[in-house]
Amino acid sequence: LRSDAPQTNPTLTDASAPVVTAERSTRPRLRVRTALGVVFASVLTVVALVSCTPPGQSNAITGTNRPTPIAGATNGNLASSQLYTLNSNCQIYKPAAGSLAALIAAARYNGIALDTSECYRNYAGQVYQRNYWCGQGICANAATPGYSNHGWGKAVDFKVTNMPLNWTSFAYTWLTLNAGRFGFIHPDVVNEVWHWEWVGDGGQDHGDPVALDLRTWPMTQGANGTDVKSIQQSLNWWGANLTVDGAFGPLTGWWVGVFQSSHGLSVSGTVDLNTALKLGFH
Ligand SMILES: [Zn+2]
Repeated sequence: LRSDAPQTNPTLTDASAPVVTAERSTRPRLRVRTALGVVFASVLTVVALVSCTPPGQSNAITGTNRPTPIAGATNGNLASSQLYTLNSNCQIYKPAAGSLAALIAAARYNGIALDTSECYRNYAGQVYQRNYWCGQGICANAATPGYSNHGWGKAVDFKVTNMPLNWTSFAYTWLTLNAGRFGFIHPDVVNEVWHWEWVGDGGQDHGDPVALDLRTWPMTQGANGTDVKSIQQSLNWWGANLTVDGAFGPLTGWWVGVFQSSHGLSVSGTVDLNTALKLGFH
């Protein structure tokens, strides 16, 4: 069993720990904030993370990354076994499903009624969309059939039912600040505000995978990986001083308990869904 002692990977220490420490020292600890405060703090965190990322580190979450095709499959003709039905209007490539569900849950936790209008789009659907948009004189709003990232189940068209979703809206700003933590980007070349794509497996840039998957919860001692790093970063944002090494040891479990105790949750030291939502995935 790995402890929470300083980890052996110096790259992770350089990339993560100083940022979190600097942020933490300026903030009140373990205090419930308003949704606006959370978003504002997220701005600071994201700015700090972006500005401190050392050159050469492979980051999948960029506006120029794009999803990869699925080996052995045909765009717009995926097998039902490759898709997860999230709701009546969204089938998503299975490995992205947990992250999409978590992204939607996090948005709703912050007061944004985020929902999907369409995810996977089969070939016939792509032909329909292309004809529709070309008829409007905006062919660029739909890919050439057979080339849409909707055809891989890796693109999501969002809608927000309780506030506007446009380039200057709160909801879009929230997405730009938070979707990356769930592996989703808004591609620079896409001019539809609602269209987001999943590159949580690294995408065409082969960047570091970003996965926060509901299926890995509850997360408890002994867990390892990217999801644990996200939790450790969140705990640090709320006042812990953990090394972000992706190893869920006794110290991480102790801080989870502290967080639960100070937020009215039952103290288990295990990250269940309620705890994760309260943490806010910072
Ligand atoms: Zn789209």
